[in-house]
Amino acid sequence: MSRTYALECNQKIGKKVQLWGWINTVRDHGKITFYDLRDLTGIVQTVSRNKHKITEEDVVSIKGIVKKRPDRLINPLLKTGKVEVEIESIQIISKANTLPFPIDTDGLEIDESLRLKYRYLDLRRERLKNNLRLRQQMLSFMRQFLTESGFIEIETPILTKATPEGARDFLVPSRLQKGKFYALPQSPQQYKQLLMVAGFEKYFQIARCFRDEDPRSDRAYGEFTQLDVEMSYVTQDDILELTERLFKELTEKIFKKKVLKYPFPRITHKEAIKKYGSDKFDMRIKKDPNVLSFAFVVDFPLFEKTKNQPISPSHHPFTAPKDDYVHLLESDPMKVLSWQHDLVCNGLEVGGGSIRIIDAEIQKKVFKILGYSSREIETKFGHLLKSFGWGVPPHGGIAPGIERIMMAATGEENTREVTAFPMASSGQTSVMDAPSAIDDGSLKELKLKTI
Ligand code: ASP
Repeated sequence: MSRTYALECNQKIGKKVQLWGWINTVRDHGKITFYDLRDLTGIVQTVSRNKHKITEEDVVSIKGIVKKRPDRLINPLLKTGKVEVEIESIQIISKANTLPFPIDTDGLEIDESLRLKYRYLDLRRERLKNNLRLRQQMLSFMRQFLTESGFIEIETPILTKATPEGARDFLVPSRLQKGKFYALPQSPQQYKQLLMVAGFEKYFQIARCFRDEDPRSDRAYGEFTQLDVEMSYVTQDDILELTERLFKELTEKIFKKKVLKYPFPRITHKEAIKKYGSDKFDMRIKKDPNVLSFAFVVDFPLFEKTKNQPISPSHHPFTAPKDDYVHLLESDPMKVLSWQHDLVCNGLEVGGGSIRIIDAEIQKKVFKILGYSSREIETKFGHLLKSFGWGVPPHGGIAPGIERIMMAATGEENTREVTAFPMASSGQTSVMDAPSAIDDGSLKELKLKTI
């Protein structure tokens, strides 16, 4: 007998069906017992006059007849609330132990390390299921939107050379070339620029980025995903227009919400700081959950002073200075404005990008200002500078962060709530115990010693 899903019972009144799934709840009413069965499509009530040794979360297969419920027993809260399945036989496929925590709540009341240790059980809860389904719909919408706009999706390497985005790199030792290391990409920044040199003109990738930096609620430790986009022969306006079209449609079609203002307001970095005291601001007067308030911030300074560095890129070192300021690069670098653009939404920075430097001399100057020696420039970025020698189109792009957009869309307050298997802020992975020690044999093979 072929499988019937819970939701399909609505169309099968009077028919014999076979259901497969988990026992969501057991309610013993004396003469009869209700077993709510849960599968991918939802929940359906099943009922039996016999007692079965069945407990919640057991995996079962039930054969029975779909019956219409009498009017007074209809459950309007359930999509299958007008029917129930009268059990003819029930088979336990797999018994479930008592769960370490409840899964019928939103889960936020439970100790997070316990939730992450048993993430596969935590993910059985409705809220997380809905978050991950929405995430998939969003990614699929982005893919379709960009593909229809003539973009090509290209995967770039994970084992690679460092690309600075302001964080520490994760390093991977090489076995074949002893004493040498790969870095995991902080973003595909250099590869996407090389793809512009290669002539693809319109690129995107749903890209995993790896950054060893201190976690915050809106920034996952370790890894995150971004919609990485790059285009050739464009101005900043072209990039912003494409971005706002994509996000307006995404908000309306997938999130079923409204954007506060369209076209998205554009505000200079200076104005943002003056008006909101921050370059990540919320323009909503009251925090209406059905409205996403997107805006662009432009005219950032090219460089900034940080806690550890007297001068560092405000974005990354590949961002182009505005033409009128190029002459100030060496004499007064902190005054130089750039072609950086940030996308903010409901107080979160959801993406950043820029028009890039394509003049190898200006790029070298920027690296020098940032304190790189000529030798370092050559070993770290020689490949990119060299590529500019064979005809490089003007190009630029943007990379909205998937988890942050999800936070804005769902109102979740932490990136972990929109990620299937997130890392704890300590850097511990969920379920699998990493990082973990490696055995002596592997160390020997890599010619590494731990101290
Ligand atoms: N690579 C940049 C980032 O990860 C985005 C961009 O400049 O397109 O922030």
